[in-house]
Amino acid sequence: VATATAGPSTSLDDIFISVKTTKSFHKTRLDLILKTWFPLARQQTWFFSDVDDEEYQKKTGGHLLNTNCSATHHRRALCCKMAREFDAFLESNKRWWCHFDDDNYVNVASLVRVLGDYDPLQDWYLGKPSIRAPLEIINRDDRTQRISFWFATGGAGFCISRALGLKMMPIASGGKFISVGEKIRLPDDVTMGYIIEHMLHKKLTVVDEFHSHLEPMQFINTDTLQNQVSLSYSQYNNEMNVLPIEGLDKTQDPTRLLSLHCLIYPNFNYCPS
Ligand code: UDP
Ligand code: MN
Repeated sequence: VATATAGPSTSLDDIFISVKTTKSFHKTRLDLILKTWFPLARQQTWFFSDVDDEEYQKKTGGHLLNTNCSATHHRRALCCKMAREFDAFLESNKRWWCHFDDDNYVNVASLVRVLGDYDPLQDWYLGKPSIRAPLEIINRDDRTQRISFWFATGGAGFCISRALGLKMMPIASGGKFISVGEKIRLPDDVTMGYIIEHMLHKKLTVVDEFHSHLEPMQFINTDTLQNQVSLSYSQYNNEMNVLPIEGLDKTQDPTRLLSLHCLIYPNFNYCPS
């Protein structure tokens, strides 16, 4: 009996990484990404923004796309960007699409390892929900019916295999994603869950290593940071929700992402020796 051969293993170049951003965050959030994880995935990562920005076009090596979507935090604008990210993934012919927000730290090595556990020729929707139960909404085609489904929080990042992407194509490509969002009137990440779970009957697979700032960052076990796929930060009023890690001082690194990067890659030039 022949031993089973390992399937083609996943490499970084199999992944199309899209980061949603907006003009007012280029200076603050993109700079942080450019200083940390972007250099580890320069060829694979693309930023989806809403303006032409020569400076960041240069800094990203030409990887900043102007979606011409409006620069607002409204459903229509966010769904417009997500639609562009999805179409760009289809065009890329990559095996995986991973979406992140611009306040995510992506642990590139861990992302590649985690995706290696899944076959991109099968349907996979990988991510982390931020609510404890599936979302319940009223069916707009029949108001006596309820629909319930899980969705992966966009702010934690999520990944979709090419097989699933191809099945989503008739419903969501060429900007059709926006129409679905308009129909259910819910945010882009919820729309993604609706398309995949409700319309295509595929399940979200929960991957605990994805983290948004909806989770309290201080409760993440800092011994496991090497294994996490995405991390984040936020500020509510004066309260910072950030990783409780040592490293650079708070004025130099208020979000703790530089210090996180130093924990994983101690040799970057700004890391304390
Ligand atoms: N964003 C955007 N347009 C806006 C505001 C935000 O594209 O007008 C993007 C932002 O760059 C980020 C995501 O939407 O990738 C989430 O924004 P933010 O983190 O500010 O808000 P949250 O939804 O996490 O509270
Ligand atoms: Mn955010």
